[in-house]
Amino acid sequence: MAGRRTITIIGGGVIGLAAAYALVRDGHTVTLVERGEDVGREASFANGGQLSYHYVSPLADAGVARDALGWLLRPQAPIALRLRADPRQWRWLLAFLHACNRHMNRKNAAILLDLALSGQAELQTWRNAGLDDFLWRRPGKLVLYRDASTFRKAARAVTDPNGQRTLSPSECAAVEPAFAGLQPRLAGGIFSPDDEVGDCFLFCTALRKALSAEPGFRLVRGTATLGPGPAGRCAVGVDGRPFETDLVVLAAGIASRALAQPLGIDLPLYGLKGYSLTTRPPPGTVPSVSVTDYDNRVVYAGLGDRLRVAAMVDIGSEDTVPDPRRLAALRALVAETLPGALGQGEDTPWAGLRPATPTGVPVIGRTRYGNLLLNVGHGALGFTLSVGSAMRLKEIVSGADARAIG
Ligand SMILES: Cc1cc2nc3c(=O)[nH]c(=O)nc-3n(C[C@H](O)[C@H](O)[C@H](O)COP(=O)(O)OP(=O)(O)OC[C@H]3O[C@@H](n4cnc5c(N)ncnc54)[C@H](O)[C@@H]3O)c2cc1C
Repeated sequence: MAGRRTITIIGGGVIGLAAAYALVRDGHTVTLVERGEDVGREASFANGGQLSYHYVSPLADAGVARDALGWLLRPQAPIALRLRADPRQWRWLLAFLHACNRHMNRKNAAILLDLALSGQAELQTWRNAGLDDFLWRRPGKLVLYRDASTFRKAARAVTDPNGQRTLSPSECAAVEPAFAGLQPRLAGGIFSPDDEVGDCFLFCTALRKALSAEPGFRLVRGTATLGPGPAGRCAVGVDGRPFETDLVVLAAGIASRALAQPLGIDLPLYGLKGYSLTTRPPPGTVPSVSVTDYDNRVVYAGLGDRLRVAAMVDIGSEDTVPDPRRLAALRALVAETLPGALGQGEDTPWAGLRPATPTGVPVIGRTRYGNLLLNVGHGALGFTLSVGSAMRLKEIVSGADARAIG
C-alpha cells in the first residue's frame, strides 16, 4: 500500500460497498455516503442473482441491432425501445450500434472475463473472512438455446473451453431436470460448472455489517454532490455542506451521470430498465442450477426456497415503475418455460435501472481531477463484477496498477 488515505465513496450499492470493503481491508479510512434509507435498495436490490463469471458477453454484439428490429413488434421481446427526444439517448444508441460487431464484442468480453474471474477468487477470501451468508451457492450456470444457429455460434465462442461444456438437449435436461419439459424445443446448451448465485441485496447487507465492525469505516446517510474545487481537485458536498477527504470514488450507479456533470465529465451511462419476479414455488421444484433461456434472455436463479426470474431491457424508460404489460409478458414467458414456477400466481415484481455503458465495459480509474476516481457503468453484470472492480480500484489507489478500464 502506498499510504493510508481517507477515502469517500459515493453510493451504497453493490459496487460502492464492495469497493469500501476492499479499501478498508487494505488499511484505508473509508466513508460511504448513501442517500437512501439503507444500502443496496436501488439497482442492486432484486437483480437476477447471477454470479455468471464465465458468461460476460456484452449486450452489444453482431446481429443484435437486426434482432432488435424484429423484437420491437413483440410484447414479450427481450429488448424494447422507446425513442425519446433526448440527445443522451441518441448518443448512447449510436455508440451501442458502433459496438455491435464481433470484434468489439470479443475484445470487451475478454476485459469483462478478466475482471469477473479475478473477483470470483477474491470473493472466496471474503467469504472465508466471515461475511454473513447471502444465499451463495456454486451450482453452475446452464445457458439454454432454442435456435440452432445461435447455439452453434455460442458454442464456437465459449470463453473457457476447459471449464465450459457444450450439451445436447437431453444432457441439458439431465443437468437441470426442472427444465426437462423444454427439451424438445432446445438446440442445446452450454454449462459453466463454476458459476455461482447469491442474493445481491443480502450481499450488500453482509458487506455493510462486516464494514460496520471495522474501526476505519463509517456510513453517512446523506446526498452527495460534486463540483470543481481548487488546484484541479474535485470538491465534495454532503447535504449541502463541504466534506473533506483525500480521495473520492464515484460509485452511484445511474445517478453517477448527473453527479459528474458539474465537473464537465460526460459519463457514457444510460439506464437500461429490467424486471424481476421473486416467487416461492412448491417445495422441491426450485431449479438447482442457474439457468438462462437465451432466446428470451430470461435468467432463473434459486435463492434459498425462492426463485428469482429476471429479464428484459427497456431502453428509453428511465423510471423504476414496473410496466404491467412487460410484467404480464414476463409471467407468460415463465409459464411457458417453467410451468408451475409461479406457484399460486403470487410473486414479487421489481424493476431497476442497469447503469450501462454502450460497450458493456465499466469505467474504473482516475479522472483529470487528481482526487476523483470512477467505479461506474457495470450494466447487466454489477453483482458479478463488483468484487473484481473493487480489487482493480484498490490497486489503482495503491499505485500497484495504473491500468484504467473503460
Ligand atoms: C433486472 C436486473 C437484473 C440484473 N441481474 C443481474 C445479475 O443476475 N447478475 C449481475 O451481476 N448483475 C445483474 N444486474 C445488474 C446489477 O444489478 C447492477 O449492475 C448493479 O446493481 C449496479 O450497482 P451500483 O452499485 O453501480 O448501483 P446501485 O445499486 O443503483 O447503487 C447506487 C447507489 O448510489 C446511491 N446514490 C445515488 N446518488 C447518490 C448521491 N447523490 N448521494 C449518495 N448516494 C447516492 C443510490 O441510492 C444507490 O444506493 C441486474 C440488473 C437489473 C436491473
